[in-house]
Amino acid sequence: MSELALLGGKPSRTTPLPAYQPIGEEEHAAANRVMKTGVLSKFLGSWANDFMGGPEVQAFEREWAEAFEARYAVAVNSCTSGLYAAIGAIGIEPNDEVIVSPYTMAASATAPLIFNAVPIFADIHPGTYCLDPVSIKARITSRTKAILVVHIFGQPADMDAIMAIARTHKLKVIEDCAQAPFATYKGRPVGTLGDIGVFSLNYHKHIHTGEGGVITTNDEDLAERCRLIRNHAEAVVEKKGVSNIVNMIGFNFRMGELEAAIGREQIKKGPTLIAQRRDNVRYLEERLSNLPGLAMPEVEAGAEHVYYVHALSYNAKATGIPRDTVFRALKAELPETALREGEGPLIAQGYVKPLYLAPMYQQLKAFGSNGFPFVSAARPTPPDYRKGLCPNVERAHFETVIFHELMRPPMTRNDLDDVAAAFHKVFRNLDDLKKAKVGS
Ligand SMILES: *Cc1c(COP(=O)(O)O)cnc(C)c1O
Repeated sequence: MSELALLGGKPSRTTPLPAYQPIGEEEHAAANRVMKTGVLSKFLGSWANDFMGGPEVQAFEREWAEAFEARYAVAVNSCTSGLYAAIGAIGIEPNDEVIVSPYTMAASATAPLIFNAVPIFADIHPGTYCLDPVSIKARITSRTKAILVVHIFGQPADMDAIMAIARTHKLKVIEDCAQAPFATYKGRPVGTLGDIGVFSLNYHKHIHTGEGGVITTNDEDLAERCRLIRNHAEAVVEKKGVSNIVNMIGFNFRMGELEAAIGREQIKKGPTLIAQRRDNVRYLEERLSNLPGLAMPEVEAGAEHVYYVHALSYNAKATGIPRDTVFRALKAELPETALREGEGPLIAQGYVKPLYLAPMYQQLKAFGSNGFPFVSAARPTPPDYRKGLCPNVERAHFETVIFHELMRPPMTRNDLDDVAAAFHKVFRNLDDLKKAKVGS
């Protein structure tokens, strides 16, 4: 009988791995400070003193701007909201095209749709999983107005090349930094390399406030437009004397005082949490470096990766065993992680399915049932969302990527050794998987 858990053997480890828990005494005290005031949000949706939010929100914004070397930070209630505000702020018009990544969380591609523009998917670079400048260039048309770059998995995109394209074609650049807070590119934090950056503070991110987001920019006008969209712009523009009212349809994207107070503590903890994570990745990578067909993530030259997830690349040609079989064998060896029980071991094949393959794009249904805004009188031909559109992302998702979250603090050296041991056990018994003809 095989020693592999997938084939009936004993799993490599069954004791749960330690929970990622960045919320501690400091956050408890911060939340209590706000609770005692009874003012859980101070925003007013009219042009008055409190249009910019309460004292915690404003302090949080100052501290975020400083930590991320941005002139302005605008707190919002999620990264999704922040991306919507950013698209509105740059003045996107209906039927404009925005080049987006297919390998990201859904909101990075729905943002243009909210303003009736159309997402156009470019392919990713096979080594970094971020948008490939060559593919971006090939997707530019007379309608292209912006590029929405995602620093996916914690890895900064090739920003020099992307900004050069943007300058040549007069395009705005929005950076989705949800997975990359504190990541740097040529010594600068992501978030102000393009025109606007947007961060997430949801529970799963490096630092969090439960739900939350932050917009960063060095452009005063864009910051102001984001603040307006955050808080019922259309009701405020007249009193405030705003002359450019394009896309000044406002939402309620406001962050509360509790989240802001917690966020102020999280900013301070971010660099340490990320240093620990990077150290754990280094340790694990040394132990996984010689397994057949398994490659560690490539890091862009001049970039500092912050490993939201650790995306490994598996080449089935090297072993003759499909990725999904190896993945299932690995998963069977590993335990769950505390506080995330029920998700199973935090390891996965692929990431999110390439976005253009989702029903919304396949059936061209966003607003109503007649294809709007993908097809309209002004745009009779729908964009190309066919399978095969972006070969690199399809190969990554369906064939090569195995990603895991088993490097988050407070994983100890012992815990990391157990993870490495599970990998070694599977790769030492590949013949058993071959003989057993396990399907995927
Ligand atoms: C988490 C995430 C978002 C959305 O963040 P929310 O704060 O949950 O809205 C957007 N883009 C990427 C790449 C993400 O990982």
